[in-house]
Amino acid sequence: MPSFPAQTSVNEIAAHYCSSPTDRTVFKENDLVKIDVGAHVDGYPTDTGVTVDLSGDGRWARLIGAASSALDAGIACLRDGVHTGEVGNVIEGAIKRAGFRSISNLTGHGLARWSLHATLQIPNVAQKGGPQLRAGMVFAIEPFATTGTGLVTDKGKAEVFSQAGDLPPAGACDAELLQAIRRWRGLPVARRYFREIPRNPFERCLRDLVKKEVLFSYSPLVEISGAPVAWKEHSIYLSDSGPQVLTA
Ligand code: MN
Ligand code: MN
Repeated sequence: MPSFPAQTSVNEIAAHYCSSPTDRTVFKENDLVKIDVGAHVDGYPTDTGVTVDLSGDGRWARLIGAASSALDAGIACLRDGVHTGEVGNVIEGAIKRAGFRSISNLTGHGLARWSLHATLQIPNVAQKGGPQLRAGMVFAIEPFATTGTGLVTDKGKAEVFSQAGDLPPAGACDAELLQAIRRWRGLPVARRYFREIPRNPFERCLRDLVKKEVLFSYSPLVEISGAPVAWKEHSIYLSDSGPQVLTA
């Protein structure tokens, strides 16, 4: 089963663009497309993705290469006891050396059963200290490289939601929506999953649950200067003998 709805973020959209049920977007020549996917087995999620260059002339090759080499360098420095700040330092260094900027307000993250964004964060920029990564941990590393400012902000309509608080009793809200959210046990769901539910009670209930912070909503994350963003992500198990890439 998917651990979250597939995301297709283009150009200055760094992450979290998810097609609506009526999306008519068509990829265009010269687009820089980030495909973010994952699967879960019995609630244990993975999270991975690549950036695809839709130009005929390879104009995004260096930017994509920067994100890719930063991910390789970040993985290569993993060992029992390494501080997350050091991983961020290595990632930022690789992106700077390639001549680009690392996005500072997006991070890698822990992966836990039924939890795609467990509390652990792995920065994409240099930091002092931070928690130590330990053998036995599972987490995602995901560097973002850009020609822009290096910051993203929420922009546009959220299409993805995950349970963040206790669900109200059945009858307080659209029953089918509540049942579906319960079935995903905290993993993210997309509006397009619910095409069979009548729009009106569904949208009202959705809005209500987000407002009450029962649901967390994920808006697209857009580079603030509108500059293109490349990225790459892997899920990693840190074993006693070093990192194992789960999504290679
Ligand atoms: Mn991802
Ligand atoms: Mn991720």
